[in-house]
Amino acid sequence: MFLADYHVHSSCSFDARDKMADMARAELARGVTEICFTDHVDFGDQQTMQIGPERFGLPRAQVRQFIDAMERAPEGIDIRLGLELGQGNHDPARARRIYAMPEYDFILGSLHNLRDEKDFYYLRYGSEERCLELYDRYLDELIELAGINCFDCMAHIGYCLRYMHKQGQDVELSMERFGYKIDLLLRALIENGKGIELNVADLVAGGRQDAMLRPVPGTDILRRYRELGGDIITVGSDAHNVKAAGVGIREGYELLAETGFRYVAVYKRHKPEFKRIEI
Ligand SMILES: [Zn+2]
Ligand SMILES: [Zn+2]
Repeated sequence: MFLADYHVHSSCSFDARDKMADMARAELARGVTEICFTDHVDFGDQQTMQIGPERFGLPRAQVRQFIDAMERAPEGIDIRLGLELGQGNHDPARARRIYAMPEYDFILGSLHNLRDEKDFYYLRYGSEERCLELYDRYLDELIELAGINCFDCMAHIGYCLRYMHKQGQDVELSMERFGYKIDLLLRALIENGKGIELNVADLVAGGRQDAMLRPVPGTDILRRYRELGGDIITVGSDAHNVKAAGVGIREGYELLAETGFRYVAVYKRHKPEFKRIEI
């Protein structure tokens, strides 16, 4: 079965340690034959790589690693270069310019922190009300982001559950609770020709530590996206080390088939190409 992992981090990301070449080798060992490196560029977080506001060129670390990967990665795996661009809606002009750079094949649009808030990773989730209020603001900002031409697929819709869950708040971003805003978001993405990501970092044991064993977004949102006519979707392990590289991709494809998807998207120069899911 053809498997592609479109959310992979290398040591170009502040929170990852393994080189692109080693990540590629680990992915291939798990049967993945196409990957896209999506290292972090986050507006408002100086820990991550920065592009702009003056110079819009590839960060040097990324160039070096990519060349090294081309030289050292094993045969049989296609490697694409992309980005995980965080908080594009906090500086739309800069985000659009990054999207227009000719070097990247694919950009994930993410939201790791709300305006004037810390990264979801660092927040305190003391009560259900607090979680619901944060989801509400999260959706407002995602809707904003969906209207900016600065990414190809929206990453991990509802991923903050990961951190809420860790603090004992198991409040899902569900159609039942947030159907109205989720519909607005999905319709905006579809209208603008953008896709979504199925993030499988938490889908199976062996990916993330303490994986929640759930897909992100949940199957109710995946089904709704399909119902509304959404058909552009990528699958990503969000691996930050070789142990997690490619873990869950196969199960992600199976889940997509069960929820009514027949194709996954892969990208070249921001153009999706559709690969049939063969189970
Ligand atoms: Zn992310
Ligand atoms: Zn990521």
